[in-house]
Amino acid sequence: MGLAPVWRLRRAGSSPALQSVADASAEVQGVPVREEALTPASPEERERRILSMDWPALKGQVAGCTDCRLRATCKQTVFGVGDERAAWMLVGEAPGADEDRLGEPFVGQAGKLLDNMLAALGLARGADVYIANVLKCRPPGNRNPQPDEVAQCAPYLLRQISLIQPKLIVAMGRFAAQALLGTDASIASLRGRVHRYAGVALVVTYHPAYLLRSLPDKAKAWADLRFAVRTIAAAG
Ligand code: URA
Repeated sequence: MGLAPVWRLRRAGSSPALQSVADASAEVQGVPVREEALTPASPEERERRILSMDWPALKGQVAGCTDCRLRATCKQTVFGVGDERAAWMLVGEAPGADEDRLGEPFVGQAGKLLDNMLAALGLARGADVYIANVLKCRPPGNRNPQPDEVAQCAPYLLRQISLIQPKLIVAMGRFAAQALLGTDASIASLRGRVHRYAGVALVVTYHPAYLLRSLPDKAKAWADLRFAVRTIAAAG
């Protein structure tokens, strides 16, 4: 009597089963599940809505996202971690197995190396540093991300950048560099120059996981990070 049904809108393209996995995961991660789901009229409209979100809305949206196939096979989304007003924003490719399990970027062996490199610069994750990935979900078996997965996830990273307003983005690895700069150029040819992404200065370096396998390139990565320090200093 007088009780209207409670409508819970679903996003286009999401199966109910996949959606309930995402909702449960969002609740476990402590992020409120949206009662009004985004049912985008078009990719442009979806992007426009994401780009207007504040932190809580964005975190909830990512935690509940089922807009590509990856959410069906990963354990949880990996949003990003760190100082939400950081000058430094480090961007990797996608969560691996450890990150998928723990819900934080770069927590495996590559992450330990990254933390050590940051420490050598007097930096630490969470203190003037924010770490995120191009993709928020782990591709199965760590396979290469596919273009449609990158396209669906891109607005999330874009919004993280516009909320943080870092002085510098460090793209780590070929995939992140190529995805952000829209190029298929090699890391070697992209290093040592200041690029721009979303209006922010961007420098390119090797991925920490690659450095674990290729110790000689550690010196080059160290040179890249010192170049990054000079770039930030020049930005004022
Ligand atoms: N590799 C990445 O690119 N990102 C992570 O979070 C972990 C490993």
